[in-house]
Amino acid sequence: MKLLEYEGKEIFEKYGLPLLKRIGVLKIGDSPEKLKFNGQGPWVIKAQVLAGGRGKAGGVKIAGTADTARELSQKMLGMQLVTHQTQGRALTVEEVLVEEASDIEREIYISVVLDRKEGAPVVIASAEGGMSIEELAKTRPELIIKTPVDPNCGLLDFQARELAFNLKMPKGVFCEFTELAKTLVKLFIEQDAALVEINPLAITRAGRLTVIDSKIVIDDNSLFRHKDLASKPDHEASEIEKEAKAIGINYIGLEGDIGCMVNGAGLAMATLDTVKLAGGNAANFLDVGGGATVEQITKAFQIILKDAKVRAILINIFGGIMKCDDIAAGVVEASRKVKISVPLIVRLEGTNVEKGREILAASGIKIGQADSLWEAAQKAVAAAKNQFQS
Ligand code: GDP
Ligand code: MN
Repeated sequence: MKLLEYEGKEIFEKYGLPLLKRIGVLKIGDSPEKLKFNGQGPWVIKAQVLAGGRGKAGGVKIAGTADTARELSQKMLGMQLVTHQTQGRALTVEEVLVEEASDIEREIYISVVLDRKEGAPVVIASAEGGMSIEELAKTRPELIIKTPVDPNCGLLDFQARELAFNLKMPKGVFCEFTELAKTLVKLFIEQDAALVEINPLAITRAGRLTVIDSKIVIDDNSLFRHKDLASKPDHEASEIEKEAKAIGINYIGLEGDIGCMVNGAGLAMATLDTVKLAGGNAANFLDVGGGATVEQITKAFQIILKDAKVRAILINIFGGIMKCDDIAAGVVEASRKVKISVPLIVRLEGTNVEKGREILAASGIKIGQADSLWEAAQKAVAAAKNQFQS
């Protein structure tokens, strides 16, 4: 789950990180008068979208007066933002964050991310932070410092000091920085994050350390123990994904036209690969779970068919604990309940598979059966193509 900048900063605040003074968050439809300015500015207005690179795309503006800040906020709301991180797509700005701007002298990059090779969190930092960090990683990777962390101990004092020396932290903020780096790792671990990033972490002209931006990604599998986060809207999920989640189906929408219904995440991934290998593209990842009851299968059909792109449905179920005849009966019953307007291809394997196939064949429902996943994928790809042409 990706958090918006202001949501990330709310977590930073709990951990006592040095933030800019927040004026408020304005949503589409809110009156700009909701923003109560105190102090003398300038103010910074920031588009709250799940992508970086806003600075270069017009999603970060500085205003000298409260009136200009209100005006710029209004203009930014509803704007379509395309940044170098949105893969050509435009994101609608539905919320803006307004803060007291800071007078930045230096921009530092710091993040904590799970490093799969190290099998541990790693602190990544660079003295050359700011808007071109991706460029720097390509052209001058030696300027990026990586510190692996033992998750049981957090960032140790000597590691934090070494990091501060390498980043050439001035004396005035040296200790504050080492504390910040340790806190960031603590936050990463306690919040079950997959990524915590501050870019830039600024040193102001007045010599203060200030968090300018925040990016936090929480591991979805940990949301059960972060009730406060789990109840937040998932800004990344599509409408269908939200519905699927609400009824307990593990669904991720994709670009293709073959709806997939599979039991088990690993088998679902293998199914997507096989569809691709057969020359097609899956419309979704869907794991009905181990149960695969009539109820779950019915729900899964309903979810898959909500996607108007779907031109064929491929069911790939392995009857391990569940028996194939029970699954087949479930598929038949569910497909009677749900009006399936596209070709249906089923591949069953496992316990009682023969009986299962007989049930499908005798059902009178038009089902393309396949003996192997490869055959099923090829049939689904062909079916989707025929449908498309007709
Ligand atoms: P991003 O481009 O989406 O990562 O958005 P950031 O929040 O990182 O802002 C981009 C850039 O805008 C920063 O690197 C800064 O150079 C600039 N910026 C953001 N906030 C302030 C601020 O309060 N004062 C000043 N002077 N510049 C800012
Ligand atoms: Mn940034």
